[in-house]
Amino acid sequence: MVKDLVCGMMVDKKNPPAQTLYKGEMYYFCSMDCKVKFSENPEKYIASKQQEEKKGKSI
Ligand SMILES: [Zn+2]
Repeated sequence: MVKDLVCGMMVDKKNPPAQTLYKGEMYYFCSMDCKVKFSENPEKYIASKQQEEKKGKSI
């Protein structure tokens, strides 16, 4: 399972409702809606993910 960076939902990597390749990395989403939001501002979502990892926060 991977995290949908837009809404925070867990998505099944093997059968994702939506996915996109950005800067050589694959990102998974719960819906096309979240994919579109990510495409509009990918850096924002990636930055907030990195911040979370820095804090060592795990869900
Ligand atoms: Zn989502």
